This record gives sequence, structure tokens and C-alpha cells, in this order.
Amino acid sequence: MAQTAGVLVGNGVVLTLGDDNRVIEDGAVLIEENVVEELGTTAALKAAHPRADFIDARGGTILPGFICAHHHLYSTFACGIAAKPSANFVEILENLWWRLDRALTLEDVELSALIPIARAIRAGTTTLIDHHASPNAIRGSLDRLADVVLRAGIRASLCYEVTDRNGAAGAEEGIAENAAWLERVQADETGRLHGLVGLHAGMTVGLKTLERCVSLMHCMDSGLHVHVAEDQADQEDSLGRYGQRVIKRLRAAGGLGRRTLAVHCIHLDGEEVDILGETDTIVVHNPQSNMNNAVGAARILDMIQRGITVGLGTDGMTSDMKEEVRTALWLRHHEHHDPRVGFVEVAQMLTKTNPLIASRLFDAPLGRIAVGAPADLIVSDHVPFTPIGPDNVLGHLIFGVCAAPVDTTIVDGQVLMRHKELQTLDWTEICARARRAAPATWGRFASLA
Ligand SMILES: [Zn+2]
Repeated sequence: MAQTAGVLVGNGVVLTLGDDNRVIEDGAVLIEENVVEELGTTAALKAAHPRADFIDARGGTILPGFICAHHHLYSTFACGIAAKPSANFVEILENLWWRLDRALTLEDVELSALIPIARAIRAGTTTLIDHHASPNAIRGSLDRLADVVLRAGIRASLCYEVTDRNGAAGAEEGIAENAAWLERVQADETGRLHGLVGLHAGMTVGLKTLERCVSLMHCMDSGLHVHVAEDQADQEDSLGRYGQRVIKRLRAAGGLGRRTLAVHCIHLDGEEVDILGETDTIVVHNPQSNMNNAVGAARILDMIQRGITVGLGTDGMTSDMKEEVRTALWLRHHEHHDPRVGFVEVAQMLTKTNPLIASRLFDAPLGRIAVGAPADLIVSDHVPFTPIGPDNVLGHLIFGVCAAPVDTTIVDGQVLMRHKELQTLDWTEICARARRAAPATWGRFASLA
């Protein structure tokens, strides 16, 4: 960075989003160190800061970076893999994910992270909340992910998916990995790392393990990150083994609350939805994954209407929130047989709720361009070719920005991609390394029962 002169991103239409929701035509954003210092017109800021490193948005849109509220970086090597066809969700877990995760080494964990994080930067995703599993390489796995996160320069909340499906020792190691990670994060000064306590799902976690994870969460003042009722199988297991539905079981264990992420929440009854509201628990919707797995559609509009915080994630399907938000919107139209429903609610999952979730976790005002806020912003190639103002920002977002490539990505004041050139990662090298490692990973995958 050009030291004290700062970075000036200008010659674009600035969308601040956030509470201000300003639209600045021919606007510019001055970044100093890691925060937004000033907003205004390009001409005014250029005149006032002639020495700043100028990034020309070339008429495009300057807006806050996107946030992904649920990701699985470890899913990378599933691209093109030969997995047995699966007839239902449990078979998908058994035939694909629970074999791929066991095939991963620490080296694979690193490579699996590099690819989707590079793609996140390219897609303008500046913060992601990951849910990691590598049962044969647990210890140190979150540190390996963190190395990639810091090298790349994005922000990430990490956790290890604890499960009892690999025996007591596996569960123990998973809990220890979360504990070590949370300790590291408490001492972290980069502002780019965060930790949650990961659990795979109620159906793979017994009483003792759940109790220990909840205890760790309270002890470290964190939250759980857990798949909830993604399929009816999770409810059937919970009712069969514990005589309670999933959300009631999590509440009884003390695992819900304002920092807990309940991911999917598709097969819930009304009482469970009420409990999510009462406990201010965060729900994360992942429409592409849900449709791909044919597990149903979460009733997110009902939840949002009841005041529940419903964010948007990709579940490892992509790092691109632009395609995920559009999918979420089309799903609502399709599901309700009504093209009028859901537009504002869904668009605001990306512009308001995901920022709220990230700000709550990272304890910083993320997902907005505001003076004093961390400088996490992007330049989109979307040149507004129709009128734009505070009232139709969401229309330009869904049908303009989300349909256009990202040109420049900045996190915490650091330029991670400049005019489509990655600055911190070498895409060609990353792909070559992954391509070299993948055959051995796939070989281990094929040999696992
Ligand atoms: Zn997931």
C-alpha cells in the first residue's frame, strides 16, 4: 500500500448499503490503513488526495464485499469425482462426503482451501464462515486453513465439524481442534480470523459430545456452527434416540443463542421456529445445495416474517454469493408459484443479514461502506445503464451487479484483486498443485468403504 497516501477507489457508482444506503454517482472511496476514511465524488477526493493510489472503477459499481455465511472449503476435490449415485441425502453423505473428508491429508486441506478462496476473491466474497472436516487429518487442520486465509487476505470464521461417526477418539480430537483454534483466535490481532464450535449435525453427535461442545462454546464465549434438519432423517434420528426434535434437543443442551449458526433448518415445525426466534439463533439458507441434494426448501420467508435472522450460504457449492442470492430468489418464485414474493427479503439476506451475522461474529461493522468501518469493498463491472438511486439499489444488485464479473476486491484495506489480477495468490500455480495432488486423494477416496 502507498503508506499514508492511501488507496482511492473512484470513477464509479458507490453503493454504501448499510443503514445509510447512499448512492454516490461518479463516487469514490478513500481507504487509509484498513478503514474507509472518506466518501465523496471522484473529482473532490482526487483533488484532496492527489498522492493516493488510484483504482479506476471505469464507471462500474463500488460496493461492500459479499459475505458467505456457510461454506465447506474441504469440498473442493469433489469436482469431477466418480461417486456412486445416491438416492437420498444419507446416501449422499455416505457415498460422497464421508468418504471424501476421510481421504484428506493436511496438504489436501490447504489445497482445498486455496482454490475456493481464490474464487471467493474473484467473486467479491470478502468474508466466509467455513465448516471444516478432515477426520484423518484433524489436528492442525484449522491452522492450515488459517494460513491460507491470511496469505490470501480474506476474513474467515473457522471451526472443525465434530462428529461421533468416527468413534470416541475422533470426536475427542475434533473438540480439541476447536478448543485450540478458539484459543488462538482469542489472541489474534489480525481481525481476519474468528472461531465457532463446529458440530456436523444432531444425527451424528451423541449426548456426551454435544454436552462437551456446548460447554466449550460457553467457556470461549462463542457459538455452535451445526447442520440442522437438512433432511427428515435428522428429525427421525433425534426423535428415535432422544425423544425430542432437533431444535428442542439443541435448546435443552444450551446450544442455541445469538452466535449459533443453525444451517439449513428445512424440516422444522412451528414450535422449533419459535424457539429459534426466542433464542435469537442465526439460520443459514443454502438453496443451491438444498436443490442439488433434493432435500426440500426451507420456509425462510415465514422465518424472516417472524423476525428470525436468516442468512445465506453456499454449503461448499460455490464461493460466489452472486449466483447464490439469485438462486434463492428464483427458488422462492418457483416454490410459491408467484413472481411477486421474496424479492426484498432475499436480496436483504445478502445486503443486510449476512453483514449483521459477520459483524456479530467479528465484532466489527462489516458489509457496508462507511467512514471508520473496515475497508472490505469491491468494484463490479456493472455499469449502471439505467437510473439508479437508493430506492432501486436492490434491483441493480440482483439484475446488474450479481450478473456481472467483479473487477477489484479489497479486504481490510489490502487489494487482493486489482482489475481481475489476483494480488496475493497465483491461480495457475494453485491449480497445478491441486491437479497434481488430486489423483492420490481420489485414490484414497475410491479405496474407502
Ligand atoms: Zn454444510
